[in-house]
Amino acid sequence: MPFAHLTNHLDTLKNQGLYRSRRIINSPQGIHLQLDGKTVTNFCSNDYLGLANHPAVVQAFKNAADHYGVGSGSAHLICGHSTAHHALEEELAAFTGRERALLFSTGYMANIGVINALIGRGDTVFEDRLNHASLLDGGLSSGAVFKRYAHSDVSHLDSLLTEATGNKLIVTDGVFSMDGDFAPLKDLSLAAKRHDAWLMIDDAHGLGVIGEKGGGMVEYYGLNADDVPVLMGTLGKGFGTFGAFVAGSEVLIETLIQKARTYVYTTALPAAVAEATRASLKIVIAESWRRDKLNSLVAHFRTGAEQLGLHLMSSSSPIQPILIGDSQRTVAISNALLASGFLVSAIRPPTVARGTARLRVTLSVAHDEEQIDRLLAALKEQKSQFADTM
Ligand SMILES: *Cc1c(COP(=O)(O)O)cnc(C)c1O
Repeated sequence: MPFAHLTNHLDTLKNQGLYRSRRIINSPQGIHLQLDGKTVTNFCSNDYLGLANHPAVVQAFKNAADHYGVGSGSAHLICGHSTAHHALEEELAAFTGRERALLFSTGYMANIGVINALIGRGDTVFEDRLNHASLLDGGLSSGAVFKRYAHSDVSHLDSLLTEATGNKLIVTDGVFSMDGDFAPLKDLSLAAKRHDAWLMIDDAHGLGVIGEKGGGMVEYYGLNADDVPVLMGTLGKGFGTFGAFVAGSEVLIETLIQKARTYVYTTALPAAVAEATRASLKIVIAESWRRDKLNSLVAHFRTGAEQLGLHLMSSSSPIQPILIGDSQRTVAISNALLASGFLVSAIRPPTVARGTARLRVTLSVAHDEEQIDRLLAALKEQKSQFADTM
């Protein structure tokens, strides 16, 4: 039979608790999702600020679809770059305090494109061991010497930098996507300066969410464009829409327009998505209460989870994983939570290291304390059944 080895491989994944499958959702994103005709409480989305189905964002999308239609027709460099895209880029540049910003169709593509545009054979790229897959793939595909440093370990990075050749690019998540902790951005920027390296941060989970003004990790640490010259952000998480951008100097952005293959050779986002994002950016800027409320929900969750003795990680972001360890056990708990009406995703290898499978609980501004308390009660019930591992 053709592909028999693939069938074997799938069976192996199933036996190891590593098989992945999709759940079919029949409702807008929000705290309550429709899943198999049942309403469940959602604790796994990245829509931290509750903007994916915000009325003003939806309305902006509809109005723009009336004006621009749906498809953008071509890549940005052919005839797909609309007034809407251009205005959003200018607003994102202002929001991040940089000269320019450039839209990409996804965060994955932005990371591949930027890293490959900046370095290549003869150069060296340095990546945190826990970086997002797209950053690792960007580094690996660049042809540069690829060095991983221990998680957030700046002295390890420092020693690797000392031995490096060619142009040097340091790449890190801002908020680590599966752990929720913050990169030591200030120390990373100092290391970059000491070794004449460039620092690139992927702040997919920080922008809009962290910092009083939603400026993410750069604002949190009080840094500027000189400290962190390459800032990448995504629009499908805190901003609630879709797409991504890179912000930086005129020279950086013009270089990307010429050289980033995932920018040049792909269709532009629909203009209506850009208009929807302009509406969500306005809310991100104006409504700091969303970040305040998120912070207080995070504190509420952590206090309750600590009282239960759950194995939390050192995270003050809305990403609040509970470490379980064993993959099958993690899936079993996730399934049991679903049966109780809570959607919490089981994150397993290879997304995280072997033996560190976890429940990735995420909080949204649209949650309330009562919903969190009910999740904690369900977790308590699971803990009594899995006392040895939770
Ligand atoms: C989600 C994510 C991406 C990918 O962004 P998409 O727009 O979903 O492709 C990149 N980096 C990090 C850290 C992420 O969490």
